[in-house]
Amino acid sequence: MASDAPPKRLGEFALIAKLFAPLAAKEKGAFNLTDDAATLSVPAGHELVVTTDTLIEGVHFLHDDPPDLIAKKALRVNLSDLAAKGAKAQTYLLALSLASWADNDWLNRFSSGLADDQNRFGVTLIGGDTTATPGPLTLSITAFGIIEAGRMLRRLGARPRDIVFVSGTVGDAGAGLAVLKGEGTGLSDFVRSALVSRYQLPEPRLSLGRRLVGLASAALDVSDGLLADLGHIAEVSGVKITVDAARLPLSPATRAFWGTGTEAIVRAATSGDDYEIAFTAPASLRAKLEALAGELGVELHEIGRVDAGKGIVLADASGKPLPITRPGFTHF
Ligand code: ADP
Ligand code: MG
Repeated sequence: MASDAPPKRLGEFALIAKLFAPLAAKEKGAFNLTDDAATLSVPAGHELVVTTDTLIEGVHFLHDDPPDLIAKKALRVNLSDLAAKGAKAQTYLLALSLASWADNDWLNRFSSGLADDQNRFGVTLIGGDTTATPGPLTLSITAFGIIEAGRMLRRLGARPRDIVFVSGTVGDAGAGLAVLKGEGTGLSDFVRSALVSRYQLPEPRLSLGRRLVGLASAALDVSDGLLADLGHIAEVSGVKITVDAARLPLSPATRAFWGTGTEAIVRAATSGDDYEIAFTAPASLRAKLEALAGELGVELHEIGRVDAGKGIVLADASGKPLPITRPGFTHF
């Protein structure tokens, strides 16, 4: 009697029932993932805020990256979009196209990464899709948040004389990616792992984003690179944004790696994946924003200003624009 080798992977429906349904338990509109679709209710006077992001093996993560970190990053890049829009994150959909190498062990670790971050950020899975692919593993998350109707923070809204802020520090994720690619061999393990973890595990600024509603005139999360992203605000808002190179917040780890010179600053301002919030606000709110940063325990740095005109400029100490060859990451 031929004995089949044990399956490397649970069948599609067993996988959904065993690994994903427990993640959906808290939302009654997910029907334990036993129906074709989920329902979402929105409190009166609120709107849904919706965003989606895809991660592809070989592009956004590597085959042997820790599966729990892949799961968390996929969720967090979506939560970061909701944060930057001032939304309260609530639920998400997960579309998984599994490559043949992804076995039960990988899937278990992947779903436990999701479970951790569901607890951490108070969000719940409500559905998705599971397929197999002969190509690279691909995962797409669509996240839903709510916001008071009409209050979503937009890229549109920056006005001349506003000031520009960014949360946290910039460049760390780009420096972490450089470490993963083999640079920075002279750095201590402590510095290397601090940078790599900023790349692998961004921190969505959900509480900050919520509190910026009614304060920020325009906002977005820094995913492609600070200058590229502020350039989007400048373009959509029809203004010019000047960032002072000397005021860019670089972490001690990034300074240990790249130094503090102009080249380091340009690199930090044009490397992606930081998932900080960059925003503009009237200068009259400066003190209020500083108090908010203190209250939330989040660093906020004033880095520039908005003027009439167009485009994005990184200015040196004398106000002269620094030459930028590539303001940020693009896929094609
Ligand atoms: P259909 O064939 O009607 O599209 P499926 O059989 O694909 O439905 O899915 C059954 C249920 O399982 C649905 O509620 C769906 O949302 C859920 N589901 C499927 N894949 C996933 C996944 N990767 N993550 C979360 N829920 C999933
Ligand atoms: Mg169906």
